[in-house]
Amino acid sequence: MKIIEMRDVNRYFDLGNNKIYALKNINLSIDKGDFVAIMGQSGSGKSTLMNILGCLDSSSSGSYKVNGIEVVDMDKDKQAELRCKTFGFIFQRYNLLSSLNALENIALPCIYYGLENKTRIKKAENLLNDFGLQDRSENRPNELSGGQQQRVSIARALINGGEVILADEPTGALDSKSGEIVMKIIKNLHEKGHTIILVTHDKNIASYANRIIEIKDGEIISDTIKNGVLCETREEKSTDRRSRFDYLRYQFYESFKMSLKAIKTHKMRSLLTMLGIIIGIASVVSVVALGNGSKEKIMENVNSIGANTIIVLPGKGFGDKEAAKIKTLKISDAEIFSKLSYVDSVSPNIAAQGLIVYKNKSVISSLEGVSAEFLEVNNKKLEVGRRFNIFEVKNAAAVAIIDQNTQKEIFGEKNALGEIIMFNKQPLKIIGVMAHEDNFGPPNMNLHVYIPYMTAMYKVLGNQEIAGITVKISDNINSHLAEDDLIKVLTVIHGKKDFFTINSDSIRKMVEDIANTMTLLVSSIAVIALVVGGIGVMNIMLVSVTERTKEIGIRMAIGAKRKNILQQFLIEAVLLCLMGGIVGILLTILFSVVFNNFVNDFKMILSLDAVLIALFFSTAIGILFGYMPARNASNLNPIEALARD
Ligand code: ADP
Ligand code: MG
Repeated sequence: MKIIEMRDVNRYFDLGNNKIYALKNINLSIDKGDFVAIMGQSGSGKSTLMNILGCLDSSSSGSYKVNGIEVVDMDKDKQAELRCKTFGFIFQRYNLLSSLNALENIALPCIYYGLENKTRIKKAENLLNDFGLQDRSENRPNELSGGQQQRVSIARALINGGEVILADEPTGALDSKSGEIVMKIIKNLHEKGHTIILVTHDKNIASYANRIIEIKDGEIISDTIKNGVLCETREEKSTDRRSRFDYLRYQFYESFKMSLKAIKTHKMRSLLTMLGIIIGIASVVSVVALGNGSKEKIMENVNSIGANTIIVLPGKGFGDKEAAKIKTLKISDAEIFSKLSYVDSVSPNIAAQGLIVYKNKSVISSLEGVSAEFLEVNNKKLEVGRRFNIFEVKNAAAVAIIDQNTQKEIFGEKNALGEIIMFNKQPLKIIGVMAHEDNFGPPNMNLHVYIPYMTAMYKVLGNQEIAGITVKISDNINSHLAEDDLIKVLTVIHGKKDFFTINSDSIRKMVEDIANTMTLLVSSIAVIALVVGGIGVMNIMLVSVTERTKEIGIRMAIGAKRKNILQQFLIEAVLLCLMGGIVGILLTILFSVVFNNFVNDFKMILSLDAVLIALFFSTAIGILFGYMPARNASNLNPIEALARD
């Protein structure tokens, strides 16, 4: 039975105008179980013939059938399958992968066959034993002698069955003793039923074969058949194949392992490649976290003005030089405001500096005259004690609420409630202490004393002008409409508009807008960093493909399909980026812990969203920038790749 049939096969190389024929009109058929030696001088076309036989190269014209099926019509993947399942290559220079040990090298073709890990290892171990290499399984190729390496490569050729063994000068690089061992193994394989096609220029080696074909200048010049035996008794062992899904899952897992190995082998380079992604992801996540934190802090500050609050101040606006002289706001204005239907509460603001005296201590403090509702209006809380009641305000009672600074400065840890302090020689009884407040920026060192505004005007300060009025609008009222109405009302009362208003909602909106714009701006810069990182990954992957061309060629020769190679390099790129992303996120977490410990003004707020988006982006970058190098790798021509050093 014919296993190989070639009809009128030509192989020429186009070099500009002239064609160089490496093979001319080759007609050749080889029986199953035969042992054929191909002889000829260097440059006669032996290797070209072997490459076409093994589907590593394609003929320029003619027909080539394996087991009766035309190879010329097959696509690249089908040819890869033939290399994987039918052929087994033995090269003069072994072509083992230097990063894998003997066992892994032998088992490699099984990955592309789709065998499960355990079965693969078992088969490889059996072959190692057969060739007397059982104690060498952990050794890398550079730790093995030439003869041992060639035995490993024979085992590799056999692991998927190796129905047809193609050996291109298998003893060419070996000393005579090792060569003899190798030839004995090959002869033995023939006896077991493998079809052997062997290239040599050594008559002694050729004498092992049944049939000797001589070629010269790309043509067969003689074909001698000795009285040899065809060993067709070989049984096809059925190998367990998995379902398609298992096959894909398994291939993916193997590609994953290989990529991880490649990354581990080049630790430094991988780290440098990742660095771009690490910096990119870390900056994006940090910026978002800082943005969130500062925004929250700013909003807290804005909120401390109080929601739905309108402040009425004298003058035409901030920076009005005349404002200090304008004393038009009166308590009566505040009283009118408090009667409006949409007003929740009103607090007139009266402020002055003065001297507090308590026992033998005296400190400068600011005094604020406020209404009973000043806590609500200004969104403040009490630590201890109670608020003013309406009667205390109306009757100008001599009561005061102090802030934490005053508490510390005058009373220290001592309870201040019920104590009497003198402010500008007026006694004031302390009825409450305000809660501590976090404020943006440097801590407020001023002391504040709050007293009812009537007390401030009639008892302590003795004047009736007020610095401003804080109006809190009812919750369900639009503060802008309320503001417009307040302006109208007050303009009518005063006869002209000699005041201006600040709406807390407008401030909040403005601050929010600024914070969002800032985050967007800084994020875009961080995204640029990420893209630069991605280009770095692409660059390194391209270099890596060039550097590993030989490896890719070997993988293809033993049966890797293009998509296997593509998958391997793509996974490697994605893995690099993903690892970079994870390291970047970890760094950010570390940074945020340090930051939050040492910076009190605001916190970095890491959100799960940001982390997930960062991971998604690093994967996307891996795919985006890894695809081109991976495709380049998968499109390599196997023989050109193999020829690379
Ligand atoms: P052998 O293995 O018998 O030494 P080869 O099969 O390697 O010879 O080469 C046969 C001929 O084809 C040689 O003349 C060689 O120069 C030519 N050849 C092989 N590959 C190429 C190629 N890629 N481009 C041009 N010429 C080639
Ligand atoms: Mg050659």
